[in-house]
Amino acid sequence: MHEISFKKLRVILLDRDGVINQEPGPILTPEQFIMIPKSSEAVARINAQGWKCFVITNQAAIARGDLNQAVFQEITDKMHHELQKSGARIDGQYFCPHHPDWENGKRLTEPKQCSCRKPGTLMLEQASSEHGFAPDETVFIGDTTTDFAAASGWGTPSIGVRTGCAGQDGKVSIAPDYWTDDLWSAVELLLENTS
Ligand SMILES: [Mg+2]
Ligand SMILES: [Zn+2]
Repeated sequence: MHEISFKKLRVILLDRDGVINQEPGPILTPEQFIMIPKSSEAVARINAQGWKCFVITNQAAIARGDLNQAVFQEITDKMHHELQKSGARIDGQYFCPHHPDWENGKRLTEPKQCSCRKPGTLMLEQASSEHGFAPDETVFIGDTTTDFAAASGWGTPSIGVRTGCAGQDGKVSIAPDYWTDDLWSAVELLLENTS
Protein backbone atom coordinates (compact mmCIF):
# COMPACT_ATOMS: atom_id res chain seq x y z
CA MET A 1 0.00 0.00 0.00
CA HIS A 2 1.31 3.42 -0.92
CA GLU A 3 1.96 6.20 1.52
CA ILE A 4 -1.10 7.56 3.25
CA SER A 5 -1.47 11.10 4.41
CA PHE A 6 -4.61 12.08 6.23
CA LYS A 7 -2.95 14.75 8.35
CA LYS A 8 -5.69 17.33 7.85
CA LEU A 9 -8.55 14.87 8.14
CA ARG A 10 -11.63 16.14 9.97
CA VAL A 11 -14.60 15.06 7.88
CA ILE A 12 -15.68 11.55 6.83
CA LEU A 13 -18.11 11.22 3.94
CA LEU A 14 -19.97 7.92 3.89
CA ASP A 15 -22.05 6.22 1.29
CA ARG A 16 -25.03 4.57 3.00
CA ASP A 17 -26.15 1.35 1.28
CA GLY A 18 -23.45 -1.31 1.36
CA VAL A 19 -21.31 0.72 3.78
CA ILE A 20 -23.50 1.42 6.83
CA ASN A 21 -26.30 -1.02 6.05
CA GLN A 22 -26.53 -4.20 4.02
CA GLU A 23 -27.72 -3.88 0.47
CA PRO A 24 -29.38 -7.00 -0.89
CA GLY A 25 -31.25 -4.63 -3.26
CA PRO A 26 -32.78 -1.16 -3.01
CA ILE A 27 -33.85 -0.37 0.56
CA LEU A 28 -37.57 0.39 0.29
CA THR A 29 -38.79 -0.13 3.87
CA PRO A 30 -37.34 0.43 7.35
CA GLU A 31 -37.47 -3.37 7.83
CA GLN A 32 -35.03 -3.82 4.93
CA PHE A 33 -32.54 -1.48 6.60
CA ILE A 34 -30.14 -3.84 8.43
CA MET A 35 -26.84 -2.57 9.79
CA ILE A 36 -23.56 -4.13 8.63
CA PRO A 37 -21.81 -5.63 11.69
CA LYS A 38 -19.69 -3.06 13.56
CA SER A 39 -20.67 -0.16 11.26
CA SER A 40 -22.37 1.75 14.06
CA GLU A 41 -19.36 1.16 16.31
CA ALA A 42 -17.18 2.49 13.48
CA VAL A 43 -19.27 5.67 13.32
CA ALA A 44 -18.96 5.99 17.11
CA ARG A 45 -15.16 5.93 16.70
CA ILE A 46 -15.43 8.67 14.05
CA ASN A 47 -17.48 10.71 16.53
CA ALA A 48 -15.00 10.04 19.35
CA GLN A 49 -12.17 11.27 17.18
CA GLY A 50 -14.00 14.56 16.73
CA TRP A 51 -14.39 14.10 13.00
CA LYS A 52 -17.63 15.20 11.36
CA CYS A 53 -19.51 12.54 9.46
CA PHE A 54 -21.96 12.99 6.58
CA VAL A 55 -23.90 10.45 4.54
CA ILE A 56 -23.94 10.98 0.77
CA THR A 57 -26.39 8.62 -0.92
CA ASN A 58 -28.07 8.01 -4.28
CA GLN A 59 -31.72 7.03 -3.83
CA ALA A 60 -32.96 6.45 -7.36
CA ALA A 61 -35.84 4.33 -5.99
CA ILE A 62 -37.53 7.69 -5.35
CA ALA A 63 -37.38 8.64 -9.06
CA ARG A 64 -38.56 5.15 -10.00
CA GLY A 65 -41.61 5.61 -7.78
CA ASP A 66 -40.63 2.66 -5.56
CA LEU A 67 -39.94 4.85 -2.54
CA ASN A 68 -41.54 8.09 -1.41
CA GLN A 69 -39.93 10.82 0.68
CA ALA A 70 -41.98 9.91 3.77
CA VAL A 71 -40.78 6.30 3.77
CA PHE A 72 -37.24 7.45 2.98
CA GLN A 73 -37.49 9.60 6.12
CA GLU A 74 -38.65 6.57 8.13
CA ILE A 75 -35.61 4.66 6.87
CA THR A 76 -33.39 7.61 7.84
CA ASP A 77 -34.99 7.60 11.30
CA LYS A 78 -34.20 3.89 11.64
CA MET A 79 -30.58 4.55 10.64
CA HIS A 80 -30.27 7.24 13.34
CA HIS A 81 -31.92 4.92 15.86
CA GLU A 82 -29.60 2.00 15.04
CA LEU A 83 -26.57 4.29 15.31
CA GLN A 84 -27.78 5.68 18.63
CA LYS A 85 -27.73 2.19 20.13
CA SER A 86 -23.93 2.38 19.87
CA GLY A 87 -23.86 6.01 20.95
CA ALA A 88 -23.04 6.96 17.35
CA ARG A 89 -24.43 9.78 15.25
CA ILE A 90 -24.08 11.19 11.79
CA ASP A 91 -23.96 14.96 11.39
CA GLY A 92 -26.04 15.18 8.24
CA GLN A 93 -27.28 13.39 5.17
CA TYR A 94 -27.39 14.37 1.50
CA PHE A 95 -29.37 12.29 -0.96
CA CYS A 96 -30.06 12.36 -4.67
CA PRO A 97 -33.65 11.30 -5.46
CA HIS A 98 -33.07 11.32 -9.22
CA HIS A 99 -32.39 8.83 -11.98
CA PRO A 100 -31.55 9.80 -15.56
CA ASP A 101 -34.29 7.54 -16.99
CA TRP A 102 -37.04 8.02 -14.40
CA GLU A 103 -39.09 10.82 -12.86
CA ASN A 104 -42.07 10.52 -10.49
CA GLY A 105 -42.33 6.80 -11.22
CA LYS A 106 -42.47 7.31 -15.00
CA ARG A 107 -39.89 6.33 -17.56
CA LEU A 108 -38.52 9.39 -19.37
CA THR A 109 -38.36 9.45 -23.15
CA GLU A 110 -35.17 11.56 -23.03
CA PRO A 111 -32.59 10.91 -20.30
CA LYS A 112 -32.25 13.78 -17.85
CA GLN A 113 -28.97 14.14 -15.94
CA CYS A 114 -28.85 15.80 -12.54
CA SER A 115 -25.60 17.02 -10.96
CA CYS A 116 -26.16 15.42 -7.59
CA ARG A 117 -26.34 11.72 -8.50
CA LYS A 118 -22.93 10.15 -7.87
CA PRO A 119 -20.53 10.07 -9.72
CA GLY A 120 -21.67 13.72 -9.83
CA THR A 121 -20.07 15.84 -7.14
CA LEU A 122 -22.88 18.27 -6.23
CA MET A 123 -23.75 16.58 -2.91
CA LEU A 124 -20.10 16.74 -1.85
CA GLU A 125 -19.94 20.41 -2.85
CA GLN A 126 -23.14 21.14 -0.91
CA ALA A 127 -21.88 19.39 2.23
CA SER A 128 -18.59 21.24 1.90
CA SER A 129 -20.14 24.67 1.52
CA GLU A 130 -22.78 24.14 4.22
CA HIS A 131 -20.34 22.75 6.76
CA GLY A 132 -17.13 24.49 5.73
CA PHE A 133 -14.58 21.84 4.82
CA ALA A 134 -12.25 21.27 1.89
CA PRO A 135 -11.45 18.16 -0.19
CA ASP A 136 -8.06 17.75 1.52
CA GLU A 137 -9.76 17.55 4.94
CA THR A 138 -12.01 14.74 3.84
CA VAL A 139 -12.12 11.10 2.83
CA PHE A 140 -14.99 9.30 1.11
CA ILE A 141 -15.79 5.71 2.11
CA GLY A 142 -17.93 3.81 -0.38
CA ASP A 143 -18.67 0.43 -1.94
CA THR A 144 -19.25 1.37 -5.61
CA THR A 145 -17.19 2.85 -8.42
CA THR A 146 -19.62 5.78 -8.54
CA ASP A 147 -18.54 6.62 -4.98
CA PHE A 148 -14.85 6.47 -5.92
CA ALA A 149 -15.50 8.58 -9.03
CA ALA A 150 -17.46 11.22 -7.09
CA ALA A 151 -14.61 11.45 -4.56
CA SER A 152 -12.00 11.68 -7.27
CA GLY A 153 -14.05 14.24 -9.22
CA TRP A 154 -14.19 16.45 -6.16
CA GLY A 155 -10.51 15.88 -5.36
CA THR A 156 -10.79 13.85 -2.18
CA PRO A 157 -9.34 10.39 -1.52
CA SER A 158 -11.58 7.34 -1.34
CA ILE A 159 -11.57 4.10 0.59
CA GLY A 160 -13.39 1.15 -0.94
CA VAL A 161 -15.04 -1.38 1.34
CA ARG A 162 -15.61 -5.04 0.47
CA THR A 163 -19.14 -4.98 1.84
CA GLY A 164 -22.17 -4.16 -0.36
CA CYS A 165 -21.12 -4.08 -4.02
CA ALA A 166 -17.43 -4.32 -3.03
CA GLY A 167 -16.59 -2.18 -6.06
CA GLN A 168 -18.06 -4.76 -8.45
CA ASP A 169 -20.86 -2.57 -9.87
CA GLY A 170 -18.85 -1.95 -13.05
CA LYS A 171 -20.35 1.51 -13.68
CA VAL A 172 -17.15 3.54 -13.82
CA SER A 173 -13.63 2.40 -14.63
CA ILE A 174 -11.92 3.56 -11.45
CA ALA A 175 -10.36 2.11 -8.32
CA PRO A 176 -10.46 3.65 -4.84
CA ASP A 177 -7.24 4.98 -3.33
CA TYR A 178 -7.38 2.27 -0.65
CA TRP A 179 -9.30 -0.92 0.01
CA THR A 180 -10.45 -2.23 3.38
CA ASP A 181 -12.83 -5.02 4.42
CA ASP A 182 -15.58 -2.86 5.85
CA LEU A 183 -16.36 0.48 7.50
CA TRP A 184 -14.84 -0.66 10.77
CA SER A 185 -11.47 -1.43 9.17
CA ALA A 186 -11.62 1.75 7.09
CA VAL A 187 -11.89 3.78 10.29
CA GLU A 188 -9.10 1.71 11.79
CA LEU A 189 -6.90 2.56 8.77
CA LEU A 190 -7.68 6.25 9.22
CA LEU A 191 -6.97 6.21 12.94
CA GLU A 192 -3.63 4.47 12.34
CA ASN A 193 -2.63 7.09 9.79
CA THR A 194 -3.67 10.25 11.55
CA SER A 195 -2.39 9.70 15.08
MG1 LIG B 1 -23.43 1.89 -1.84
ZN1 LIG C 1 -29.77 14.07 -8.40
